[in-house]
Amino acid sequence: MEEHIIEEDNIKNDILGKKMIYLDHAATTAINKDVLKEMMPYLMNQYGNPSSIYSFGRKSRKAIENSRQQVATAINAKKSEIYFTSGGTEADNWAIKGIAQYYKKKGKHIITTSIEHHAVLNSCKRLEKEGFEISYLPVDNDGKISIEDLRKAIRSDTILISIMMANNEIGTLEPIAEIGKIARERNIIFHTDAIQAVGSIPIDVEELQVDLLSISAHKFYGPKGVGALYIKKGTGIKALMDGGEQEKGKRASTENVSAIVGMGKAIEIANKGLIQYQKQMCYLRDKAIEEILKSIPNAKLNGHAVDRLPGNVNIAFNGMEAEAMILKLDKMGFAVSSGSACASGSPEPSHVLKAIGLSHEMAQCSLRFTFGAENNIRDVEELVKALKKIYSVHSERGTVHSCFSVGN
Ligand SMILES: *Cc1c(COP(=O)(O)O)cnc(C)c1O
Repeated sequence: MEEHIIEEDNIKNDILGKKMIYLDHAATTAINKDVLKEMMPYLMNQYGNPSSIYSFGRKSRKAIENSRQQVATAINAKKSEIYFTSGGTEADNWAIKGIAQYYKKKGKHIITTSIEHHAVLNSCKRLEKEGFEISYLPVDNDGKISIEDLRKAIRSDTILISIMMANNEIGTLEPIAEIGKIARERNIIFHTDAIQAVGSIPIDVEELQVDLLSISAHKFYGPKGVGALYIKKGTGIKALMDGGEQEKGKRASTENVSAIVGMGKAIEIANKGLIQYQKQMCYLRDKAIEEILKSIPNAKLNGHAVDRLPGNVNIAFNGMEAEAMILKLDKMGFAVSSGSACASGSPEPSHVLKAIGLSHEMAQCSLRFTFGAENNIRDVEELVKALKKIYSVHSERGTVHSCFSVGN
């Protein structure tokens, strides 16, 4: 199949001017040049406060409303159902805490999963301290929840179901349409953290029957520090912050106009090229999985083989410790990650890998490679070559069977 979206631009330089093959798009992405161009006027001359009534302010207001429409169009929502936030974390916090506070008289039970991002998990932990009860659904070895488990977990006092669309570590896609159908039947509000999915797979909030959906711009070539929460019309929600009347009084603070403009442009670009991008990412993903499993003895794919984010590869390398491999790959010019960006650096193995049944050792020996727009098939070949080299050095040393001895 045709393999190019972006020509020749695959080997980027990092800030030190070293060659780098960036394979960590689930952590963040480079800002698209056209997105930056669109943002620049709002960082420079067009600085008016969007709440001001003179025309200089109204221009900023108009830019925000244009972006709101772009975001709404991308997920088949109404413009009035999109609220801008400071990022994905705020959108998740707001959805969970905002619904909990608004509906607590109706009930104090919430259903989520054990593999959510910490923005969701820690919001739930906070609510537990305030007297809410949370059910954490388990997942199977591929990282999927069971619809049967969900049905059983629902109680008369369940006010919210929060289940992610796509997992950020292992890429597994959850059965969102099925969950949406059940939630609607039972009259329970349904939130999904779609932060990994937006810009990678098509999303239609009407079809999926979701009530709230979190978005973050820096995961699809937009700027960092801006996100959005889709809130279906008629859904009650408490504000997180008290202040002015921005975002219809639901999210106070002067809008980050340039970032909001950037997010609108980025989601528009992503949506236009979505089908081709999806194909290209699946191609790189499947090639990488095939070649790695063929080349590295005892390597095993983490996550679902088919229902999986297009650009996500997560592999357990039996006997090669992830942190050491990341550093070796870094020296060889690759930016890769173990688990999520937020969790790496902590000695605890990933909660997601533990939830899919990996042993402590296997979880510590897993790496995530996530592809993006600037990658091509040569990057996959280079990666496989590098992994083979690391493996051969360690199998010669006989250190491959002890997960913790690499790099000693
Ligand atoms: C990145 C990410 C977040 C956090 O978004 P930020 O904009 O970085 O705050 C939340 N959930 C998932 C699934 C993510 O991948």
